[in-house]
Amino acid sequence: MKCKLCLLEKKPKSNTHYLSDFIIKTALNEDGVNTRSKGIYWGIDSRKIVVDFKFQQEASPKKLEDLLQRKTTQIENKNAENNIDFTVSDAFCKECEDIFSKIETEFVNNVIAKFRNSNLQNLVEKVLTEKDSRITRLFFLLQFWRTSECDSTLKLSPPLKEKLRKKILVANNTELEDIPLSITYLETVRDLDDPNLGNNYKTLNVVSIKEGSNPYAIIMNDFVIQLYDDLQFPFLDFYGINDLTNYKDYINYNQILLKVRIISNNRRKAILRTYFSVAAKSFIGNHAWFFLETFTQQFKKLPSNYQIQHYLTEMSKDKNIMKFSKGNLSSNILKYFKTFY
Ligand SMILES: [Zn+2]
Repeated sequence: MKCKLCLLEKKPKSNTHYLSDFIIKTALNEDGVNTRSKGIYWGIDSRKIVVDFKFQQEASPKKLEDLLQRKTTQIENKNAENNIDFTVSDAFCKECEDIFSKIETEFVNNVIAKFRNSNLQNLVEKVLTEKDSRITRLFFLLQFWRTSECDSTLKLSPPLKEKLRKKILVANNTELEDIPLSITYLETVRDLDDPNLGNNYKTLNVVSIKEGSNPYAIIMNDFVIQLYDDLQFPFLDFYGINDLTNYKDYINYNQILLKVRIISNNRRKAILRTYFSVAAKSFIGNHAWFFLETFTQQFKKLPSNYQIQHYLTEMSKDKNIMKFSKGNLSSNILKYFKTFY
């Protein structure tokens, strides 16, 4: 295999994350715990009609059975063992993975505590020191570069990709200021009236890669990162993460000191509501097409608008989202036909 960073023929390291695991894992894990391989989470992919139910190897069988109302299947167990979300197995060699770790460790040792576990109340931004700014730029640019190499959703322009590859290869965090980069931190704290005393509140956050360019954007749990090809871009609201009145202040173009915007816990929850509502609308739209297809196959004619609406209404009454998993979807629509036709 040709390693995508050093471009040498090397043996690949398998099952490595292209989004840094320590950033995303509390959003993906059961009860928001910090342990690797204990994830249990939903992926609402607006491009698909099903809700992908995913769990990692050590998620508790009891909890899984509660959710699924059945035992997990062998295929699900196999996927869990492979723990494949945001990971790759054929992209980078061991030596290059060590370079990634070095860049990640710098960020962990110097920067992350300034946001996580830090009192951010009433703060609207944090300005990092010159040293921390460099560490942070390289760390988040690494996320974009690896994602671009590993996930077809996001494709950086070839010149930008090559520039980043050369910097990452030698873990060089200088002269990155001419790349417009905006970083937003979503304050993530437990509400005083939250009946759940654990870390469950953290699992409301999402991990999501935006399609398209300028900006390229990744929601990485409590960090939202946006990268621009140039300064000629239209304003993008991005679920309310960007603010028309000040988004230009956080592009950090040619600035030595990196300014990170901070969004309060309440505002974070509003943003997530918008995110889920947009995803759900698209999801429902896809369901309408699925109904249309199944109905046409079943009855050899097109359904009326009323029939489509009725199906969607009945479907949305159901609180059990598992109904929409791949395994249950087809049998449920047939049951629906039995009940109402
Ligand atoms: Zn390599």
